Amino acid sequence: MKALILKEAGVDPAFDLVEIDDPSVSEDGVVLEVEAVGVCHHDISVMDGTLRRGVKDDVILGHEIAGTVVDVGPSTQGIKLGDKAVTTLTTSCGLCETCLGGLEYRCPQAHGLGHGIDGGFAEYISVRRNNLVKLEDHMDLIGASLIACPIGVTVRALEDLCEVSDGQSVVVFGSGGGLGVHAAQVASSLGAEVIAFTRSPNKIQRLQELGFGQVFLLEEGLDPSDLVYALTQDLGADIAFNPVGSAVFEAALRCLGNGGKMVVLGEVEGNHSSVNIAELIFRDGSVIGSSGAGIRHIESACEQVSSGIITPVVEVILPFEEIVQAYKLIKSGDVFGRIVLTPTGKPT
Ligand SMILES: [Zn+2]
Ligand SMILES: [Zn+2]
Repeated sequence: MKALILKEAGVDPAFDLVEIDDPSVSEDGVVLEVEAVGVCHHDISVMDGTLRRGVKDDVILGHEIAGTVVDVGPSTQGIKLGDKAVTTLTTSCGLCETCLGGLEYRCPQAHGLGHGIDGGFAEYISVRRNNLVKLEDHMDLIGASLIACPIGVTVRALEDLCEVSDGQSVVVFGSGGGLGVHAAQVASSLGAEVIAFTRSPNKIQRLQELGFGQVFLLEEGLDPSDLVYALTQDLGADIAFNPVGSAVFEAALRCLGNGGKMVVLGEVEGNHSSVNIAELIFRDGSVIGSSGAGIRHIESACEQVSSGIITPVVEVILPFEEIVQAYKLIKSGDVFGRIVLTPTGKPT
């Protein structure tokens, strides 16, 4: 099969598109023919060398994987040839206390797809049944590749950790990015008022087209908290969704009202942040880190995509051969939502 290997991480990462043996099916798993795989900031951080810990040599990246079942193991249940499915973000044993508690991605035996083990930038991938969520037949696999990450990841952060509820105000930073654009939709579907910030002028209209009325350009020198307080009757926001990390950490904290929560899902610049601790204390505020998504979050994301509540936002579809182009586009910060790779580059 065709597989895209990261040969060398760095500012200009080097890739090899190679022919390797097709994977074989496990006793209780399937082989998926990969039809679409999202390019995540996690992949970019591995490519540019910011993230090296635990990454296997010559890794096949990609953990946002959607495909069609082309082989089924002898004891695999609940899925058949021709079914569509997405993978979880990590493997897991499915049997330990952590897995049974619904935190499969924290399983002591978990390995990140496209990180500790090979991922989806390949024509086929072999996965165990407990690391798959079956899709409905009508679902489009390009959009479906975003169901586990970034959509499931934002479902976990906003529904489980932040417990967003009807009428709350949710500030979304990086709202034109892969996590942000779906977080805004998840928050909205939970009944929250969304206040969206983006640094890209050309993403404002596209966010408005998704139905968000309160979209603002985060310009240098602008304090978003002034705007947030003005829009929330001086109460401040209930939740700040921060997929960017240090670049907006202080600003996001200042947006919070009493009992407000900031959830942080990414560190794009690889920097540290220093904050005035009093800003956290006098609000009874919380800062929550979040990564990953369990099966139940992926299933919830799947239902919401299937029923049209959440629209996966894919700006560009590229073939594996164009990985360097994808890398450059994402680095430029101009991609609205996600870039998705396919083995052929053609929509499925
Ligand atoms: Zn991802
Ligand atoms: Zn486990």
